[in-house]
Amino acid sequence: MAAASIITIGDELLIGQTIDTNSAWMAQELNKIGVWVKRRVAVGDVWEEIWNALDEESKHSEIILITGGLGPTADDITKPLLCEYFGGKMIVSDVALQNVKDIFTKLNRPIIERNLKQAEVPDVCTVLNNKRGTAPGMWFEPHLTSPKGEEKRIYVSMPGVPHEMKGIMLDYVLPQLPSLFNLPAVYHQTLLTAGVGESFLADMIKDFEEALPAYIKLAYLPNYGMVRLRLTGRGDDKAAVEKVVDERFAELKLLVKEFMVTDVDEPIEMTIGKILRSLNKTMGTAESCTGGAIASLITSIAGSSDYFKGSIVSYANEVKENLLSVSHDTLMTVGAVSEETVTQMVKGALAQLKVDYAVATSGILGPGGGTAEKPVGIVWVAVGNKDKIVTQKFQWRFDRARNTDLTVQNALNMLRKFILIN
Ligand code: AMP
Ligand code: MG
Repeated sequence: MAAASIITIGDELLIGQTIDTNSAWMAQELNKIGVWVKRRVAVGDVWEEIWNALDEESKHSEIILITGGLGPTADDITKPLLCEYFGGKMIVSDVALQNVKDIFTKLNRPIIERNLKQAEVPDVCTVLNNKRGTAPGMWFEPHLTSPKGEEKRIYVSMPGVPHEMKGIMLDYVLPQLPSLFNLPAVYHQTLLTAGVGESFLADMIKDFEEALPAYIKLAYLPNYGMVRLRLTGRGDDKAAVEKVVDERFAELKLLVKEFMVTDVDEPIEMTIGKILRSLNKTMGTAESCTGGAIASLITSIAGSSDYFKGSIVSYANEVKENLLSVSHDTLMTVGAVSEETVTQMVKGALAQLKVDYAVATSGILGPGGGTAEKPVGIVWVAVGNKDKIVTQKFQWRFDRARNTDLTVQNALNMLRKFILIN
């Protein structure tokens, strides 16, 4: 199987100022087309480090993808380095020059010498036009021979800016790899479970897992208290791989039936959207501790206006009272973080937002604000419609961000379950 190495370049990556999202995205896309990402390496903007990384990755992979270090400033040294590495000299690329000029004309800005430099490339590469920026991508395919004969190895250098890198990957790199390398078919099926731990699941499906053929792998992907199970098949015969993975997937679904949330690889907010649209029903949220995070996820799905009406972010007690009609008495006696309050918040949201389903949250996400009776991490969630409301208390034990994520994901799962049975 063709192996790939990803080299990301930039001091900002090493100190954690910029999170390396490029490698993750590239690895996902490569994996989809059957390229095995064998290694990922990050190096600073340092001549020797980049050079050594190229030498090292050349030993491991036939496909070496490089991002970063292509800016017009002095700290970006990838281009002259590649020129020397592959024994070329710098020339002006007509394609890249026209691209730079077009971009500056559109922006109505004068071009300075430094920008024109962006159009210079080593004469030993093929230019990959960057439609989203001034730094061109560069494809190097050196002629290699070894005792085994001809060897194929490619090096592609792309800008570090994520959307520019993605454009070049999608326009040139990903479409060309299948014709250059013998790539196996890769096929995934994924399901999501909730309400069951990873170890318990593993015990439940132990016999199934052991009986899988070697070319099908099962992965456990836990997150937010839910576990995704992914079957991946690899092989030369695409149709045969798909058939066997589908058969095994059907078996797996039966085994975990009682815990399965969805059998497609999609976020839960998308699943909820599909269900609501098919039922022609609407929803809204009344959020205290989650501050609109549930609404934000629901509306991250294009077309959510078909079923999502709105949210009342009732962080303060007076908003709970004034906009959601939570009783003053309830807030004074049992408090905002209580089953009674979230129940009334759902009722208020159903009435005010005129929706079929509502979800409400109220809790103490930390780090401060807890009491002996209501410790940090306590969260009440309610979901309901005009006939019925169900509630659940959670007790999280993480930091604020993770406690929030857990609340959002679990509230969405409660909502999903509620809609399906009510
Ligand atoms: P460069 O091509 O080195 O000029 O990179 C331009 C910008 O892209 C940097 O300032 C970073 O913000 C961003 N960037 C570079 N490498 C990565 C990466 N691996 N993942 C995400 N963003 C990156
Ligand atoms: Mg840089």
